[in-house]
Amino acid sequence: MKLRRIFFIFFILALLSSCAVLWAEEELPIDFERYSERVLIVKCGKFYMDQVIAIATQKGIVMIDTGKSPTLSTEYRKIIEREFGRKDFSYVINTHYHFDHTDGNQVFSEAEIIAHENSPERMRQFDGRRQDFIASRESAMEQWKNQLKALDPNSQEAQRLREIIISQPIMLDDLANNYILTLPTITFSDRMSLDLGDITLNLIYFGQGRHTGDDIIIHCPEEKLLFTGDIFFRGSFSIAFSAQFDAPRWIEVMNDLLEDEKEIDWVYDTHNGRMPVKFISLWRDYLVDMWEGLNAAKKEGLSFEEVQDRFSYDKKFAYLEQSGLDKEQLRREHQQNLRFTWMRVLEQQSAATLLEQIISESGIKSALEKYREIRSKKEQKYYFDETEFNGLGYRLLNGKRIPEAIEVFKINIEMYPESWNVYDSLAEAYMQNGQNDLAVEYYQKSLKLNPQNTNAVDMLQRIKKKKLGTVPLLSPIS
Ligand SMILES: [Zn+2]
Repeated sequence: MKLRRIFFIFFILALLSSCAVLWAEEELPIDFERYSERVLIVKCGKFYMDQVIAIATQKGIVMIDTGKSPTLSTEYRKIIEREFGRKDFSYVINTHYHFDHTDGNQVFSEAEIIAHENSPERMRQFDGRRQDFIASRESAMEQWKNQLKALDPNSQEAQRLREIIISQPIMLDDLANNYILTLPTITFSDRMSLDLGDITLNLIYFGQGRHTGDDIIIHCPEEKLLFTGDIFFRGSFSIAFSAQFDAPRWIEVMNDLLEDEKEIDWVYDTHNGRMPVKFISLWRDYLVDMWEGLNAAKKEGLSFEEVQDRFSYDKKFAYLEQSGLDKEQLRREHQQNLRFTWMRVLEQQSAATLLEQIISESGIKSALEKYREIRSKKEQKYYFDETEFNGLGYRLLNGKRIPEAIEVFKINIEMYPESWNVYDSLAEAYMQNGQNDLAVEYYQKSLKLNPQNTNAVDMLQRIKKKKLGTVPLLSPIS
């Protein structure tokens, strides 16, 4: 019920755009923390946080990231100007290209904007897809609202979802009506040092495979602070987001930063407040132990089963519990980390990429033959990844190659029979193919594995209504 009131207020205030911010402040508290005389942290939201950093230096104010919405960033700017009693913004540093780090750039457009050399092109590409992004977020809103209904309203997840639901319309409205693509004016490839008189900022490119591939880390020795954008999350010890990650570079960067731990007191990321440096030194130790251990295992010619046994969480990595994170979560993340690191150590290639190539060159039949061959030989040359296969399936589905998409989703089920998402994807492909009985069967299988899958519930209702002939079938959400 409370949600309805909020949306009603929003509806009225959205009509009076000057009030939208007032509303935003009321429902999404914009707050700030003075870390030191020179460092100000401005935050919006508590559970889905937009966090930007302002540093007052002898050579102007430097911003680290600018948030997800020009409307919100205008409010951040007012706070910064008031707190510092000055408005000479000289630099903006974008930790990576993502919209929730760069969409406020236009509010500081008089400053030089610094980012990694990969960022401008990615920002341009995102801008080109802006309308698709808005449409996908609008359809996701319905799912988030349904998810919220199923949660205990006082739970952290419910509060996080509520903040997302409140902040999305502001952000999407900005993107549609108020956004000006504001690209970096200075880029670098490896490292860059910014001499700001009383303050130095050392910018270091992190490397491929962790978050977006254009992520940078910023170290401020005078304030003993490290800013890490989205590279580290306090609540997780996951290592890689893809099997193509640049572990040697990560280790080099981390060793360099942590050489003398006294140089850093706190680490700020963009969404979670701050964390003690101990957290990232543990992450570095874990990465080094995995990387060196698995490279030695490769030389010994161990199988993955032997690697899993020798490098099990309990035998080697229980020290991660010093982080205070839940042991079961750490065990789960370790399984995935071990798999990715082993793929990387063996320099395996993506089976999904290989099959996509075969499908486009010789068709699905040849691709399936190759898949069977790889599986029967248990070739170590290729790795399978659920997300990559799901992505391939959706690319085929969006390209109206539905029979091919169905086969790809079937492979994913064969590889990952415990994942609810793979059944949901296959059900969607069957539905698009007009095979509603099969769609029902697979949505039900997905729901059995994950009763929280509200998309499956919605789709089952749509299919049921269509059978009764009362409501036309709506186009499914992709
Ligand atoms: Zn990001």
